[in-house]
Amino acid sequence: MPADALQGLVGRRCTALDRRSKYILARFDGPASPVAMIHLGMTGRMIVEVVKPRTRRPDYRKHEHWRMDFGDRLVRFVDPRRFGALDVTPDADLNGHPLIRELGVEPLEEGFDGEFLHRVTRGRKVAIKQLLMNAKVVVGVGNIYASESCWHARVRPRRAAKSLTRRECDALAAATVKVLSAAIAAGGTSFRDYVGVDEDAGYFARELRVYERAGDACPRCGDLVKRAVQQGRSTYWCSGCQR
Ligand SMILES: [Zn+2]
Repeated sequence: MPADALQGLVGRRCTALDRRSKYILARFDGPASPVAMIHLGMTGRMIVEVVKPRTRRPDYRKHEHWRMDFGDRLVRFVDPRRFGALDVTPDADLNGHPLIRELGVEPLEEGFDGEFLHRVTRGRKVAIKQLLMNAKVVVGVGNIYASESCWHARVRPRRAAKSLTRRECDALAAATVKVLSAAIAAGGTSFRDYVGVDEDAGYFARELRVYERAGDACPRCGDLVKRAVQQGRSTYWCSGCQR
């Protein structure tokens, strides 16, 4: 942990909370406008706790690595397994930061559309699902959502990226946005120990059309959903309606 940089935040005001890929960005006022970059890793959590001002602070919890004390709020970073990542950088240097600079576009922001996908897939032999999961191209599309997006777009996950037409790229970009937005609205797709700030598990799992549904009938055409291993990850698709 960059102890000096964190100490430099003392006395400053947190002006905004932001996000880039999996990094939470806490922006502070004052000279150089420092930004704390926080990655929760696999099991990290930020816990916001109301406390009485000017009273004795509660003890550190087990696995509490770091806390921010705002007087009437205590923000604790708790991670039982492994500390994800934490760094502080001046705002002006944020986009050049080693953890940020190679990240691709945000799928739910301007810049991710069929035109973009068509451009970045030209000349690429890699499977389209692999490309969609490549964080240097687009961030935040994991294995589940890549499989689901391909199904919605009627594109086989193992197709060479360069073979997609502009129309298919339009469909895939739109499907990715739709799948991610629905998953966020449902609170994520929890199979294991992820929970939201309200400690509820996500409900998107019941919306999945092909993921972990090998052998089931495709909800669109009735053919059987298939499974294969692609780059060490399970891939699911329907050979009836995905081309
Ligand atoms: Zn089908």
